[in-house]
Amino acid sequence: MNTRVVRAACPHDCPDTCAMLVTVTDGVATAIRGDPDHPNTAGVLCTKVSRYLERTYHPDRIRQPLKRIGPKGSGQFAPIGWEEALATIAARLQGVAARDPRAILPYSYAGTMGAVQGESMAMRFFNRIGASRLDRTICASAGGVGMKYTVGAKIGTDTEQFEHARLILIWGGNPIASNLHFWMRAQEARRKGAILVAIDPYRSLTAEKCQHHVALLPGTDAALALGIMHVLVRDGLLDHDYIDHYTLGFESLRERVVEWTPQRTADTCGIDAARVEWLARLYGETAQRGEPVAIRMNYGLQRVRGGGMAVRNIACLPALVGAWRHPAGGVLLSSGDSFPRRPDRLERPDLYRADPARPARTINMSTIGDDLLRPASDDFGPAIESVIVYNANPVAVAPESAKVARGFLREDLFTVVLEHFRTDTVDYADIVLPATTQLEHTDVHATYGHQYIVANNPAIAPLGEAKPNSEIFRLLAQRMGFDEPCFADSDEAIAEQAFEAGHAHTRDYDWTSVKAKGWYKLDMPPAPFAEGGFPTPSGKCEFYSERMAQHGLDPLPAYIPPYESAASAPELARTYPLAMISPPQRNFLNTSFVNVQSLRDTEGEPHLELHRVDAAARGIRDGDRVRAYNDRGEMLACARVSDRPRQGLVVALSIWWKKLAADGRNANELTSQRLTDMGRAPTFYDVLVQVEKVPAS
Ligand code: SF4
Repeated sequence: MNTRVVRAACPHDCPDTCAMLVTVTDGVATAIRGDPDHPNTAGVLCTKVSRYLERTYHPDRIRQPLKRIGPKGSGQFAPIGWEEALATIAARLQGVAARDPRAILPYSYAGTMGAVQGESMAMRFFNRIGASRLDRTICASAGGVGMKYTVGAKIGTDTEQFEHARLILIWGGNPIASNLHFWMRAQEARRKGAILVAIDPYRSLTAEKCQHHVALLPGTDAALALGIMHVLVRDGLLDHDYIDHYTLGFESLRERVVEWTPQRTADTCGIDAARVEWLARLYGETAQRGEPVAIRMNYGLQRVRGGGMAVRNIACLPALVGAWRHPAGGVLLSSGDSFPRRPDRLERPDLYRADPARPARTINMSTIGDDLLRPASDDFGPAIESVIVYNANPVAVAPESAKVARGFLREDLFTVVLEHFRTDTVDYADIVLPATTQLEHTDVHATYGHQYIVANNPAIAPLGEAKPNSEIFRLLAQRMGFDEPCFADSDEAIAEQAFEAGHAHTRDYDWTSVKAKGWYKLDMPPAPFAEGGFPTPSGKCEFYSERMAQHGLDPLPAYIPPYESAASAPELARTYPLAMISPPQRNFLNTSFVNVQSLRDTEGEPHLELHRVDAAARGIRDGDRVRAYNDRGEMLACARVSDRPRQGLVVALSIWWKKLAADGRNANELTSQRLTDMGRAPTFYDVLVQVEKVPAS
């Protein structure tokens, strides 16, 4: 028997980007575990990815190319060879491109986070065609822009330092489900005496394990941050030396927050004024004692109309109290901008040939429902004639799902999907191409939760006729006659190009040694903004942002109410009185893993969690079948009645494959395509619904 251990990286859309060890015996992967030597992974994989072998060797893996033989959406396919698949796609794309290449649209996101199997060869291909560009907004762009306006970049506290904090605010996230290795650090901090406070409208698994839980109304986080600032200023709980040296616009901020009294904050957030006072004083007084106070923000809070501003307001707090002075202080939303990436080398935007008659067009992936249904016009440009989907599942994930499905149903739309499984989106494809999983290809990963580049070496041969995304686009480029040398780059060559060696953060970075060791930690100062140095135009933390003023935004921290809430839309709330959020189900990761039987068995079926008062008012008992609905759509679910959601809130843990739900629907039937204040992101958690019991038939 020939057994070896291969160093790999978890590819999924998770901030932890674990280093993994895969045991391979005679060409078959037999075990997978977290690398005990990787400081962030510490030998632990989450439940989902510990089942990665079940997913890799799943009997439903797509193992050869398929072509559609039934109506769109029916999922009826026949196997074809690679030659036929590639020739068909190339011929169709050449026909569309001859009319207008902007009618071709790539659609991709974080199905894999890898630099090689993500946007490398794929983007070279689409740039060379002159296809529409995709604005990849679906998860994180609102918060990312909020951070950039305020501290200059998505850079923050090192996750490994959180265990030394004395107070941690876990704001808008449920790390037990979606940031496990941060949670391990937070627990360590608690064992050393730290206080953990969860800020979340829902008593998640994490919130119930923190000492304190502030259950505010969804979409009001920006107001809570303003209220905290009010108390910090009113009570002098400030680090004036830090403010004087390293911030911009404090006097304007001081005036702005005067109006955000604890009572006004409490009224806006649906909590007690005493709770606002307590939280603000806890934060400010802990910092005044010279103890590290840290905030772990997550993306849940920015999925509302004012999501960018909410992140901005929270990002102001550490500078007010001087929390950045400590390695274990500050705030972390994402570490993504810490990595010196080279998209110019990976994606080759220079291959795009500008045509003044056809100005470049960008389609927002969050409004794909509307855009697939849009006819050609002077404003819009050509109707979308072809979509190539990879690393994404828009029929289940994009908002206002019924419209998305209607768009993909168009008979005149040519759709190609690169996938592992027959997802909801695959059902609408004309051609399906089998893609390799992480065990079957080479990749290299940055992350958004820690400071390591992690290498992925192939552990096993591709299953069936599956090919890496990079190879699929390499072959398509050949078929299209693209002869630029970059289309011949191997995956190894692409991995080597992914990061800048010799940058201040990667002085001794070298791909060959990284793939042998498995990872590389960036060379970052332990407290990135201890002495200012913010990558903003002023070099300071910008309470006042001139860039925001220039972009037509309020340049100071503000509160932007949700589109849909009892306070901001009372008419709508009379018909649809319950707010709905759809955060990640612990055993699913977006729509990955929903078809892994052992994980789906744990979840059973789609549930809708209701507060017991809201349930009683509707005659709903635990276990009843319920219907949630609004003007956009409806879904059926099994009711879970508890006091976990705050009153007035329902929670649909997600994201279910629609075809695996009894009614063929999921929570995105109810979400809207309206966008956030900045970053053009979706507002998945800015939704009003009504819920009723479904009579037993
Ligand atoms: S999903 Fe996250 S926690 Fe789970 S193995 Fe991957 S990176 Fe680690």
